[in-house]
Amino acid sequence: MKPIPDHAVNRLRIWRKSVSTRPFLARGGSVPRCEACQLRHDWCACEWRPELKAEAGFCLLMYDSEPMKPSNTGRLIADVLPDTTWAFLWSRTKPHPELLALLADPVWQPYVVFPACEKAPARLTSVVTPLPGKKPLFILLDGTWPEARKMFNKSPYLDGFPVLSIKPDALSTYGMRVAHCDEHLCTAEVAACVLEVAGELAAGQALQLWFNLFSSRYMAGRVSRAPGEDEAHLQQALADIKGNEATCAPDAA
Ligand SMILES: [Zn+2]
Repeated sequence: MKPIPDHAVNRLRIWRKSVSTRPFLARGGSVPRCEACQLRHDWCACEWRPELKAEAGFCLLMYDSEPMKPSNTGRLIADVLPDTTWAFLWSRTKPHPELLALLADPVWQPYVVFPACEKAPARLTSVVTPLPGKKPLFILLDGTWPEARKMFNKSPYLDGFPVLSIKPDALSTYGMRVAHCDEHLCTAEVAACVLEVAGELAAGQALQLWFNLFSSRYMAGRVSRAPGEDEAHLQQALADIKGNEATCAPDAA
């Protein structure tokens, strides 16, 4: 059995499971899965999981049972950037004290990542320009689209932060193709785009590749076919990243 990476999303999943009064029945929940990557055991992708360091941070606000869904892609962000990813269950009225402390930490400059919306035009931005001495902290609302919209509209503690709106088609400057070219990108794809905008190209590319491999295998699992040969280039690119991890000191640039 593969070791489960010790990061914020996995810790939240384990905790959320422990306080559940009923077993969680996710779609595809009956399939035996690798606890670490949440893919079917026979298609475990753990050996290709990249792990990097970045200046940018991510704060995932997860809706209710989201951390327990095998299909959740917020987890992939924590896989790639375990040192600078935080995860909390969303609450309208009782945000976790550690969440509030993180948002108030002067090291970070928070941005709420959300598609352009008419409700907060004055807060909208499409660029990441942290003040000197600060690093960007991207708040991602992790749930279905209606849940994300609810979290955006009903979290008064987020109302003071700029809203970073990303446009996927304008972003693929790095040869990265996003899977769905509409505003409803998966959480991990949004994070990969945001990393690009923030100039963290290596981390953005690693996350996009990890997402592509995960989603290819996850979708294959749903229709019970073997992962395709088209995975070879993903595996090679991820193996190259892991090779660099092993031979290079962390890139401080
Ligand atoms: Zn695995």
